[in-house]
Amino acid sequence: MESLDRIKIVLVSTSHPGNIGAAARAMKNMGLSELTLVAPAEFPSGVAVGRAASALEILEKARVVETLTDALADCTLVIGASARRRSIPWPMLSPEQLGEKAVGESAAGGRIALVFGREDSGLNNEELQLCHFHVQIPANPDYSSLNLAAAVMVICYEVRKAYLAAADQSSGEGQTGRGREKEEIRLEENWDQPLVSGEQVEHFYAHLERVLVAIDFHDPDNPRQLMHRMRRLFNRIRIDEMEMNILRGILTNIEFNLKDRE
Ligand code: SAH
Repeated sequence: MESLDRIKIVLVSTSHPGNIGAAARAMKNMGLSELTLVAPAEFPSGVAVGRAASALEILEKARVVETLTDALADCTLVIGASARRRSIPWPMLSPEQLGEKAVGESAAGGRIALVFGREDSGLNNEELQLCHFHVQIPANPDYSSLNLAAAVMVICYEVRKAYLAAADQSSGEGQTGRGREKEEIRLEENWDQPLVSGEQVEHFYAHLERVLVAIDFHDPDNPRQLMHRMRRLFNRIRIDEMEMNILRGILTNIEFNLKDRE
């Protein structure tokens, strides 16, 4: 059974360093260790250290980056936690499904990011569009917004539960052969090609947008949510590296042909 270090927690623009410390503590309690902070308001911080208690090493090796895109560059699966439903619906996971998906994909060699938003305003639309899935903790509808570190705890606990269930299953498998059924359902676990990383996908969207402009399909001054919808479309399938090479090849050929005509 693999460890949980292929699953990272990403906190976007956290304003209260105490929440960063409390999130680190929740992570260590649940066996996670990779923390990335996107433009935190105050870090390093003594308040964070105090709230982290015995999870200090997680703060010490936390990565600090400028943008969420930077944080996701090496990730193959991105799940964003959001208390609210947004204007354009997005593929959703329950916290329990998130646990299974994250653990399944990390066992298959993927790199997973679980993304949490600002205390006051959560994740913005652009950030939510960088996610394959959104997860909503089904809290009291009259007050559904959890404290940031409490939300991190709920999600990390679901990851832990799925991790323990998978460990249990693989130790029982040798004797009984059980557990195969579930494996076959999760296609990407037995895939022949690695899945693409966030960085490769961002290059693809930039290339796609360039070509859509060049063929006069897309007007950046009147975008009508085209790229937003393209992101949602391609996020619904998990593209592998071979498929990405083909897509990029098609775009490059279109560009060559346009130049020839000129
Ligand atoms: N007021 C903000 C909520 C911020 S809470 C808003 O309405 O969006 C800080 C972060 O904790 C959120 O961005 C989200 O990542 C997480 N969070 C809080 N409550 C949640 C819930 N019910 N489900 C999923 N994530 C939640």
